[in-house]
Amino acid sequence: MKKRAASECGFHSIDKQFDETTTQEQLLATVRELNADPQVHAILVQLPLPKHIDEARVLEEIYVTKDVDGFSAENIGNLCLKGGKPPLAVPCTPAGCVELLQRSGVDMKGKEVVVVGRSNIVGMPVAHLLTSMDATVTVCHSRTKELPQHVGRADVVVAAVGAAEMVKGEWIKPGAVVIDVGVNSKPSSTDKRGYVLCGDVEFDSARKVASAITPVPGGVGPMTIAMLMKNTVNLARNSVGLPRVPLRPTKLSTQPVTGA
Ligand code: NAP
Repeated sequence: MKKRAASECGFHSIDKQFDETTTQEQLLATVRELNADPQVHAILVQLPLPKHIDEARVLEEIYVTKDVDGFSAENIGNLCLKGGKPPLAVPCTPAGCVELLQRSGVDMKGKEVVVVGRSNIVGMPVAHLLTSMDATVTVCHSRTKELPQHVGRADVVVAAVGAAEMVKGEWIKPGAVVIDVGVNSKPSSTDKRGYVLCGDVEFDSARKVASAITPVPGGVGPMTIAMLMKNTVNLARNSVGLPRVPLRPTKLSTQPVTGA
């Protein structure tokens, strides 16, 4: 889907595929080769990597100017710093959550948000982004006690756990907004594959109490890909000295940016 979206955007994309026996050094050499290629503006290493490869080491090798996932320490650091430089790229899934909230007209100012999950790629950055939008954010994780009570207080719930339908509809406060990041499968006797995709939230019960909820599939996933394309454009713009298209509308960005 990422390749298809890149093609639809008219991006030239290079797909380097490896088998599972590939060594870390081979992968690092490929990243270095792409770093050095002036025709390449954005590099994405599809995670997770096999166990024998040090994921952090590989991600560290990507030039920050080509870090389209926004996972580098510099990009994450700038995202977290109040008054810091804008990151060159914002992690795509968290950026997609923000875009969904904004386009749905959800004002985050003063809202109670509960993020379930604290991973580097979703939970942690989304919590920082929503804090920077003036929400009051609680981050829950596998050691959190009384998760249902935390979720029950939230005006906005972001579920990024990776456990099928673990957040129950009965936990959700009536009228809350639910962003379901999880992508899981569950057995199905009616689907010919024998399974169907589902999120981290029990959709059928949650939709009855929530004021808005993202479906799985078809919610956060496509937005993640859209944000990946946006990050690519921003890195290409940065490479020729043009300002990035900001994640959020600002007073300065209400006008469309030429060439974006
Ligand atoms: P991850 O790295 O495995 O992190 C899962 C987080 O959930 C961890 O922080 C973990 O806590 C927490 N957790 C696990 N069990 C829990 C429990 N019983 N109660 C509360 N918290 C619990 O996963 P991830 O990479 O963030 O991804 C999360 C989900 O989002 C997955 O289903 C993934 O497929 C999906 N995803 C979707 C997209 C998309 O584009 N739609 C993109 C990325 C990820 P600890 O930190 O304590 O272990």
